[in-house]
Amino acid sequence: MVLPVEPEFEQALGELTHSLGPFLAANPAYKKAFEIIQIPERIIQFRVVWEDDKGQPQVDRGYRVQYNSALGPYKGGIRLHSSVNLSILKFLGFEQTFKNALTGLAMGGGKGGSDFDPKGKSDNEIRRFCNAFMAELFRHIGADTDVPAGDIGTGGREIGFLFGAYKRLRNEYVGILTGKGTNWGGSFIRPEATGYGVIYFVEHMIAKACPEYSLSKPSTLVAISGAGNVAQFTALKIIELGGTVLSLSDSKGSLIATRGGFTKDVVEAVGTLKLKGGSLESFASFASQEKYTYYPGKRPWTLLPEVHIALPGATQNEVSAEEAEALVKAGVRIVAEGSNMGCTQEAVDIFEASRKKGGAGCWYAPGKASNAGGVAVSGLEMAQNSQRLAWTPSEVDAKLKGIMTECYQICLNVGSKWSGEENAAGDVLPSLLAGANVAGFIKVA
Ligand code: GLU
Repeated sequence: MVLPVEPEFEQALGELTHSLGPFLAANPAYKKAFEIIQIPERIIQFRVVWEDDKGQPQVDRGYRVQYNSALGPYKGGIRLHSSVNLSILKFLGFEQTFKNALTGLAMGGGKGGSDFDPKGKSDNEIRRFCNAFMAELFRHIGADTDVPAGDIGTGGREIGFLFGAYKRLRNEYVGILTGKGTNWGGSFIRPEATGYGVIYFVEHMIAKACPEYSLSKPSTLVAISGAGNVAQFTALKIIELGGTVLSLSDSKGSLIATRGGFTKDVVEAVGTLKLKGGSLESFASFASQEKYTYYPGKRPWTLLPEVHIALPGATQNEVSAEEAEALVKAGVRIVAEGSNMGCTQEAVDIFEASRKKGGAGCWYAPGKASNAGGVAVSGLEMAQNSQRLAWTPSEVDAKLKGIMTECYQICLNVGSKWSGEENAAGDVLPSLLAGANVAGFIKVA
């Protein structure tokens, strides 16, 4: 059969196929499940017509990919970005299915979005778009069927508009979205959860692979890409612990801390700027006076002479082969994705090949494991909504830590068994990629 070309989806499927090779060879009974799992249960595509501030009609494409409901209601974010297409949403929904399985919570996998770009739009335009988007989506979602959330371009403001629209259309106050404000059904720690979860996962990786480093030591140097929700809270947690954050970036360039690392107030200022739709570019003049340098048009990976931990936190395929080589050269020991499929396949191959006996080389964690904290706290938000109560921030944080520890242990244990030949050699660090893929697959299958 001739299928449309879907590069991002094919990349995600290729990665899973490769990881599952040894497992499926030993367990041929699972082969049919693998065939079934590749196809989304349902894809909804629709037209979104909204009115701009000049009173003119505008039109965008809307989607919801309901990928897999074997483990629970479809669950996954809504991406609003000009690059959004079906290939990207299929890859995201596919990855989400296994990620959600790794949280141990009752959630299936899905993803949605639109090529509407909130950048440069007024609050009123975003609200009118959200109303129009929900006017179609509402008939396909529900607290027990499909629970969307945020992703790139969809934050607390957009979730608020979407929730209000659903409530009016259905006359129902239920948890049909996660990432809500805490005054109206949202969970504490949800905004922080993806970034904090990455750190809780990475702490386990450090303890196993390179205990000479620690996120509470200023001498441990961490590169982060992105400047959105994930990157901000990843950076803030490292700063709170005492490690050094070297970089943040956005689609226009990178801001590098030249001495002493990012401070909390600068990361918070980046957060405020991003909420207003600003870009790091506006830090360029500030950067020249302070301890920061701004590099237009560049990602951080090749700009740093020494890095111990790299945390891609922007979008898919944001680390190329060349950049992976540069990171390995700069001494990187751990790469863990806050983004989804942050590394190209070539970059992953370079990291995986660098794993050495005794723990030297670079140990790689895929987003479906290391960034599972975001959707995990979404799952906790669903649980709180069903009970109509709210847990305290420390209760949620403790549960998040527990889930990330479990997720790491599963990836480590299953990875030890199914990493392929190199692991048969003995004490090589197991592939967390193989572990995440095989463990996630077995659960859903
Ligand atoms: N968009 C996030 C992810 O990629 C969160 C999804 C959710 O909370 O449902 O996992």
